[in-house]
Amino acid sequence: MNRQQEFVLRTLEERDIRFVRLWFTDVLGILKSVAISPAELEGAFSEGIGFDGSAIEGFSRIYESDMVAKPDPTTFQVLPWETPDGEHYSARMFCDIAMPDGSPCWADPRHVLRRTLSKATEAGFTCYVHPEIEFFLLKNLPTTGVEPEPADSGGYFDQASHDAAPHFRRNAIETLEAMGISVEFSHHEGAPGQQEIDLRYADALTMADNVMTFRYTVKEVALMQGVHASFMPKPFTAQPGSGMHTHFSLFEGDQNAFYHPENPYELSDTGRAFVAGILTHAREISAVTNQWVNSYKRLIVGGEAPTAVCWGHANRSALVRVPMYSPGKSSSRRVEVRSPDSACNPYLAYAVILAAGLRGVEKGYELPPATEDDVWSLTEGERKAAGYASLPQNLNDALSEMENSELVAETLGEHVFDFFLRNKRNEWDSYRSRVTPYELQSLMPML
Ligand code: GLN
Ligand code: MG
Ligand code: MG
Ligand code: MG
Repeated sequence: MNRQQEFVLRTLEERDIRFVRLWFTDVLGILKSVAISPAELEGAFSEGIGFDGSAIEGFSRIYESDMVAKPDPTTFQVLPWETPDGEHYSARMFCDIAMPDGSPCWADPRHVLRRTLSKATEAGFTCYVHPEIEFFLLKNLPTTGVEPEPADSGGYFDQASHDAAPHFRRNAIETLEAMGISVEFSHHEGAPGQQEIDLRYADALTMADNVMTFRYTVKEVALMQGVHASFMPKPFTAQPGSGMHTHFSLFEGDQNAFYHPENPYELSDTGRAFVAGILTHAREISAVTNQWVNSYKRLIVGGEAPTAVCWGHANRSALVRVPMYSPGKSSSRRVEVRSPDSACNPYLAYAVILAAGLRGVEKGYELPPATEDDVWSLTEGERKAAGYASLPQNLNDALSEMENSELVAETLGEHVFDFFLRNKRNEWDSYRSRVTPYELQSLMPML
């Protein structure tokens, strides 16, 4: 056993922890958990815990369904809320998934991200990430005939001390910090009930784990306060959706490879090529960064979400933005990708965004001029004339783009790529065959 594993075992004993939850993520980005008792942990470290992969979304290949979850001791955390007995705490570790022969499981999103990160390492880079996570607090989840109702009536940056939100955010942040997830910033977002919490940067794998922990923790804390948290990209037609703007930077040792004091916006040539990579492959990676039929209802004009493939500095209608809050501070030079939503699979989303950016760096892609137009206010014709491609307008279009993408196939690996396309085509078919309240209300009276 190594020192980290020993530390975990010691902590379990010292804190009298009776349950260890082993976490992993399915291909669609849903957290999975198997609880074991501390007595089983030594075996779990050496051999892993066997499970039937065929029941997990995206893990199934009928003839190869035995899989093994191997806890990663570096991710050990005590969950800072009590178990139902009111006395004991439980702890969690993320797992890497292996096949019975010990090889990494091709379907494990953590493995997909690790593979892309090792390409970054080969090129000499460490990738740091920080997300701005938006979500809604709701009084109720929808049931037949009942719409969800926002838990507060606040707006952008409102203190809103008359209702639940600031209280909730303080509790959520304290809980996250107790789990080693540093929060940089939090505020009420634009829509009633909508919140934003921004995490302090970390390496991409840690951050993907953090996003999974975040969603789970925020839902738990909300329930403790009698409300529900939802990361659905666009819950209300008339309100903006929930994005997960994500800031990326590449470091070479302790130098930020995106910083160059003399370039526009202090963005180095490496940074420029990285952005060019994201723009070039934006349409292909969209199905991964925006994976649900509902995701495309957020990506519309008027919702403060990107709709066109372009980049800018202060431009919030652009897909990629180069923020400049602290000129001259090399460590903070980064690029903000504004397309991902809060319901993506963070491992896969980081993998495809990084792969696109790294491809740009590797091939020396040229960055087109910055866009300072408000692209939301341009007509379709004006956008075309300016050369801005549109992001896919629905999941079906996004899947067609992805299907032809050598970059996405290589990044996800054949198995995840095929599963994802099949699963998402089913989602689209199930959605598009449905008659909606919109059609009944707008068409039936006149037809
Ligand atoms: N909610 C917006 C989105 O979906 C972002 C709003 C903002 O942070 N400016 O991307
Ligand atoms: Mg923000
Ligand atoms: Mg925001
Ligand atoms: Mg932002």
